[in-house]
Amino acid sequence: MTEEIETAMRKHLIRDDGQEDVLIASYRLSTGAERTTALIRSVIFPDEHDRHVHGNASFTSRYVLRASSEAQTLGDGVAVLHSHPGALGWQGLSRMDWETESEYERVARRITKMPLLGMTLAGRDTSWSARFWFDKSTPTWAESVRAVSPKLAVTWNDELRQIPRVTRSQQRTVSSWGERTQASIARLRVLIVGSGSVGLDVAQRLAATGLATVGVMDYDAVEAVNLDRMIGATRLDAALGRPKVDVAARLMKSSATAEPFEVLRHEVSITDPVGVSTALDYDVIFSCVDRPWPRAVLNAIAYSDLIPVIDGGIALDTFPDGRMRNGIWRAHTLVPGSPCMACLGQLVVGDIPLDKEGLLDDPEYILGANRDAPSRQNVAALSASVSGALLAQFVSLTAHPGGRGTPAPLRYILSTHTLEHSIASSGQYCPYETRTAIGDARTPIAEHRDDWRAIVHERTTSKAQIRLRALAAVENFLQRRISRIR
Ligand SMILES: [Zn+2]
Repeated sequence: MTEEIETAMRKHLIRDDGQEDVLIASYRLSTGAERTTALIRSVIFPDEHDRHVHGNASFTSRYVLRASSEAQTLGDGVAVLHSHPGALGWQGLSRMDWETESEYERVARRITKMPLLGMTLAGRDTSWSARFWFDKSTPTWAESVRAVSPKLAVTWNDELRQIPRVTRSQQRTVSSWGERTQASIARLRVLIVGSGSVGLDVAQRLAATGLATVGVMDYDAVEAVNLDRMIGATRLDAALGRPKVDVAARLMKSSATAEPFEVLRHEVSITDPVGVSTALDYDVIFSCVDRPWPRAVLNAIAYSDLIPVIDGGIALDTFPDGRMRNGIWRAHTLVPGSPCMACLGQLVVGDIPLDKEGLLDDPEYILGANRDAPSRQNVAALSASVSGALLAQFVSLTAHPGGRGTPAPLRYILSTHTLEHSIASSGQYCPYETRTAIGDARTPIAEHRDDWRAIVHERTTSKAQIRLRALAAVENFLQRRISRIR
């Protein structure tokens, strides 16, 4: 849910008189490859006769019926909520709450054709808990409830996603923000889209921070031309043409401090529906890609599916004689209420179709259209500044230093070493931002494509020279032995 919805629901459910209260909201589904998320869309407040507030607050069937038909006209499902004013943390269901939700399950499903969602708010620490009712007999508990704002707030269901043990090598990290924050950050499922110079660096640092699950998405392979920026990639990686995600996985495993640590490799394109549904399984996404089309897909997901996207990039500029003129790098976090990439001028919507057609790589088109070729300059000495800026956004989003969340979009100007806060504001009519929390009704920007599939297929079917394969086997053997050192 967004901050706006969370605040409205919390204000209603936490009463000045300390009594319990009830509320109904509507939701949309966001369906990932493995995870289903309910996105709360609107709050349907009770009127005078809609509920009883007396110790154990209760709904009237009139309220449930009215809300269900309102939700149905919006194309939404129904969420019934209640509060436990004196409670802390993730809440289970009392017998009476179980019976109430189970009783209304059928009404809600018959009218909306969607499962009932039950939610509880614990008053003392504003923890949320949630469950789906796919049938009347027993609920399916959620793994977490996420309130998405510049200060991401997650309540975890400790039974389904256990608190990772703090390991010996994490002591200094934990002393920076405390065990409670570490326990939340470590459980976030974070996806890095693009495993180039910036993505690879971000990946290794997240693994070292103690995150238990990190995903990397890239369908490209390492080439010799990448070795000046992909720190940790070797000549053998380039000679074998290893997938970038495999290199990222290897480097992450060697720097990971969580036990166990899980790295998920996705050799897919984010511009394909397969890539999108994979991304929907994650809690936070790093956008480490520079093309307009993939960036447009991530820009949309940040709002339509309420997954914070941390984005940035670098542009280097030279004088006509080849000397360096300037460098600018940026970092910003896309969450509802903050401007999207298009509103920030970081995504030119008109370039998306050109990227789809491959025209941005076509020198003839670029010359004919009288535009500049996309800048491909990047140097290792500066890409660390970009990954550093993105990771600082991540820390603000998740650890809230000084009680603050992510800042206004940042721009660092190298020639003068100035850091600017952008004054860009959220676009009232922005086509991305107005589609907040629409989930599976999102505008399809991704398309089924064969080009990236062909690249991945060709790689998996080609065989390297025997000498290189022998080296790879020795390398594998050594790595396995090293990883067993405790
Ligand atoms: Zn926008």
